[in-house]
Amino acid sequence: MTVQSPILKGFDLLAEIERLKRERNAVILAHYYQKPEIQDLADFVGDSLDLSRKAAETNAGVIAFCGVRFMAETAKILSPGKIVILPDMDAGCSLEDSCPPDQFAAFRAAHPECPPHIIDHADHVGSTKSILDFALSSPAETILVATEPHIIHQMQKAAPGKTFIGVPGGDGNCNCNMCPYMALNTLEKLYVALRDLEPRIELSAQVMERARLPLERMLEMAGGTVGQGDVGTPIIDSDEGADLLISGD
Ligand code: SF4
Repeated sequence: MTVQSPILKGFDLLAEIERLKRERNAVILAHYYQKPEIQDLADFVGDSLDLSRKAAETNAGVIAFCGVRFMAETAKILSPGKIVILPDMDAGCSLEDSCPPDQFAAFRAAHPECPPHIIDHADHVGSTKSILDFALSSPAETILVATEPHIIHQMQKAAPGKTFIGVPGGDGNCNCNMCPYMALNTLEKLYVALRDLEPRIELSAQVMERARLPLERMLEMAGGTVGQGDVGTPIIDSDEGADLLISGD
């Protein structure tokens, strides 16, 4: 892939990213909500919990995290000795920003990225990885996907014979059905981040120390259930027709 931007014009961007990745001993982790070209380049594609695990396990010296900032911060907390870069530091998250501690208890009940009246009609509610698994194992040939639509890239690759339809958002508010923050990461920015090792996630030792325990507990509690409906309860009421799937990150 060659680049049209004035700064990097004429570059073989994919080859340059691969070269820098080797030189930096970097691993590229990408969320399911990233653009397809980033998913295809990544060493590992997963939901936020999967990516936390990978970040904790990797032997790479640099983690290029293609997701949003709180996920990259999680990677840094779990791997404090590594350099963690995020292609665009403005890749935040509206759910995180709208969730101050005093509203957190209510939020914990809001997690799947859909309002309750949509969830009531779902055949499956779960983490992003769990809805991917459900979509592949379901006998339905047409599947409505009520979450960020870039996950459909992986579904379509794994089940090319099925029809996946993204469900549009309702009222113009953030329904997480097209995440504007995930979209800030581009191949060009990933290249620059690997070249400069910036923007880099930096957190104080005190914050990392306090955050590590709940994160480790989260990974422990998730155990082997990731991808098996750990966030929500599967409700399967039909062997045919279309399935409606809903996820959290
Ligand atoms: S899809 Fe929604 S919850 Fe996920 S990162 Fe984007 S804004 Fe946050």
